[in-house]
Order: sequence, then structure tokens, then C-alpha cells
Amino acid sequence: MAAPRTMFEKIWDRACILTRDDGQSLLYVDRHLAHEGSGRGFARLRAEGRKLRRPDLIFGTADHYISTKGPTLDDIDDPDRRERVALCAPNAEEFGVTFFTLGDPRRGIVHVVGPEQGLTQPGLLIVCGDSHTSTHGALGAFAFGIGSTEHYHVMATQCLWQRKPKTMRITVDGERGFGVTAKDVILHIIGEIGAQGATGHVIEYAGSTIRGMSIEERLTVCNMSIEAGGRAGMIAPDDTTYDYLKGRPFAPQDADWETALAFWKTLPTDDGAVFDREVTIDAGDIAPTMTWGTSPENALPVTGAVPDPADEADAGKRAALESTIDYMGLQAGAPLSDLTVDGVFIGSCTNGRLSDLRAAAAVVKGRKAATFAMVVPGSGQVKAQAEAEGLDRIFTEAGFEWREAGCSMCCGFNGDIGKPQERWASTSNRNFVGRQGPGVRTHLMSAAMAAAAAVTGKFTDVRTLEENA
Ligand code: SF4
Repeated sequence: MAAPRTMFEKIWDRACILTRDDGQSLLYVDRHLAHEGSGRGFARLRAEGRKLRRPDLIFGTADHYISTKGPTLDDIDDPDRRERVALCAPNAEEFGVTFFTLGDPRRGIVHVVGPEQGLTQPGLLIVCGDSHTSTHGALGAFAFGIGSTEHYHVMATQCLWQRKPKTMRITVDGERGFGVTAKDVILHIIGEIGAQGATGHVIEYAGSTIRGMSIEERLTVCNMSIEAGGRAGMIAPDDTTYDYLKGRPFAPQDADWETALAFWKTLPTDDGAVFDREVTIDAGDIAPTMTWGTSPENALPVTGAVPDPADEADAGKRAALESTIDYMGLQAGAPLSDLTVDGVFIGSCTNGRLSDLRAAAAVVKGRKAATFAMVVPGSGQVKAQAEAEGLDRIFTEAGFEWREAGCSMCCGFNGDIGKPQERWASTSNRNFVGRQGPGVRTHLMSAAMAAAAAVTGKFTDVRTLEENA
């Protein structure tokens, strides 16, 4: 009898063409997701007289460089960014690729669009030139970010050399408390295991808490696997997955659906399969959480306080704490809920989906923004659905800006950035130094918590607002 395998090992074995003596394996790529940053790859193909190996397996969308202030090319004021976006359509036509660019209602952030369109499916090996490609693992795929050289290699060959990662299972069991979202769960996990806690591993999330999550919540969890150092994150497909995928434009249809379903049901980790590392988390220990520093591992309950470097015995760690506190403009021991905010960003592939906007709108409804706040839907479809539900009016009547879909302030590549020393509440995934603009101080949190910060002007335990709603 075959040895029990983890879900990751099953997907890896299916994708693996050969393994060299040096341990590098050649993998077949099922889906290659692209964005405006892929322009250089197309230019190199053209210059070298090559074709795409499998244009039918590449799907693109414009997200990083587009303006969120208007829907046309003319809304992009920077000529370099405008050219990157402008090249999407002619490149797609020349190379025969499906590309959702400006004007296409399906356009949006690549990690929102993939699942939304049914391009992301269980068992697939998916790559994209963006580190948060781990998001797609929420549907049972093995998905990871690649660099520009690898990106070109996949374009030309549909294959990729990789060294097999180790496996890690993070089991989260128990009921989530009131006001505790998927973002709080993953921030808590990263706070527990550290930003390097999963380095070299593919994480499988398991347990009753994960099983009880919607697909949109699972996408949030898998999205941030990379912030724990993981190569990828994944969750076994189940009825929630199949219900989500059925009928989506690029999902298998009719008889193909039944064939796919039979395959997908073989994917979950076998009983007795061994992981290189196991971590267990009690969902009851998780509170609404936010980051205070410049790493996602600097996660604390919103009721917590800025750490005091004096409590740190290790001199190196103490110096690092002091430096972080200095950059973030904090006082050791200060309650997080005393900190006022200069801006709020609700969006990104972490928390820019419809359920996030609903959660934020539920907090905002009947209240007014106490600071600058912007909502950037994750995709054109999210925007249209939110508008059909009237969420946009809840935000705009409260004084929030309602923008076009895109990455926006998650990375700031389109010019959406804060000013030096401003303090921002952000639903994105990275709070690194300068990530949202030089000198900007970013605090990561859920969409509901960001909305709470927007209407109070300071970091606020969302439970106090939701209980009084
Ligand atoms: S929203 Fe941020 S993490 Fe997601 S694809 Fe865009 S830049 Fe990357």
C-alpha cells in the first residue's frame, strides 16, 4: 500500500516531471497568472523570437499600476505606469493571452480575480510574479510567487525548477470569539510562530476553525502565509470549496465538473501522513488583533500595549525593538487604543473582497469618518456587487473615498501612498518600513477594525462598536 501523503505531496508528485541529483525538480505549471509587471517577459519573448509555450494557461489582469481615481488610461498620471498598463492589451493580443485590462469588468487584483473567475482550482500548481500568490492555496492549490527570471522561464517552457519545500500543518481548533475575523486568526498565528516561523515550508491550515471559514476568509489566511516565511499556504478542498467554484466562468462545466470533483476529492491529506512540523492554535485565545511594529509578527490584541524594550534581555533584540518603536513613533508601554490615525486603507488581496467591504460597512453605517479613509475594492466584480448592495453609499455618506479596483496602497506602485510619519490603519498584508510610502507607519488589521479606526480616529476594539450598533 502506498505511504500516506499530505495534500502538498500529492500536488507536487502530480506536477513533478523529474528530479535532478542536486535535488532540484522540474515542475509543470497549470496556471500562470500575470499582471502589468509581465511586460518585460513579453518583450524578451519578442526579442528572442520565442512564443509562449501555453498561452491558454496564462491569464493576466491589470492591478498594480492602475489609478484608483478613475477607470481610464488617462487617469494614470505617471507616464511609465501608464505605458505599463497600456501594453497589456497589445501584448495579450499578440501572444494570444486572456488579459483583463482597463475597461474589462473582470479586472482586479490578480489574487482576487483568480478565485472569482474560477481560474483557481484544487490540485493545480499556480505561479505569479507576486509574493502573495499563496492566496490561491485557499482552494486547495499549490500556489507561490516567482521572480522575473522564473516568470520568463514559465512563459517560454510552462515549467519551473524548484527545490521541494518541507511541510507544516497549522491546526486551529475551536470557536472564534465575537468580532474575531480571519485576519485576526492569521495575524495571531504569525505573532505566535514569527515572521520566519514557516521558512522553507508549505503550510497546510487545518482544524475546525479553518473548516468553518468561508472561502473568502480562507483566502485571507492563505494570503499571509508568506508573512510567516512560508513558501505557500493551502487548505484542503471541501464542500465549501466546491460550492464556491460551481458555475464560475473558468471552472469546469457539465461532465468536466464531475471529473474534476472526483479528482479534487482525492486531494486532502491522508490519515497518517506526516508533516515536518505541527503547530496547534486555540481559536479561543484570539482577540481582534493589530500590528504595532514593522513586521507582521508584531501582532497584539487591540487591547494590548506597545512592548517595552527594557523587558527584553537580549541586547540585539532590545536594539531592534527600540529601532522599530522609533520608526513607528511610539512610546513603550502605551496602549494601542490611545494611538490616533491619519488615514485608513481598506482594500488589497488580503481584505478587499465583498465580505470585507460588508464587514467594514456594517461598522461605518450611521457613523462619520473621523479621518481620511479610502475603500478600494479588490476587483471590478467586487465593486459592482458592493454598489448593487449600496455599500458604496454607506462609505461615501460617511465621508470615505470610494475608489476603482486595484492594489493601491498595499504596495503604492500606483502612487497611492501616505505622507512621512503618518499613521495608517491598513487591511493589507505588509507593514514593512516604507511599504505604504517613505516614513509611513502602517498598522495591519481586519476590515472591520480598520473601519472602526476610521470612524473613531484612533485604534478601537471593534467589539465595542459592534456591541453598541
Ligand atoms: S494587493 Fe498587494 S500583495 Fe496583493 S497583488 Fe497587489 S501588491 Fe501584491
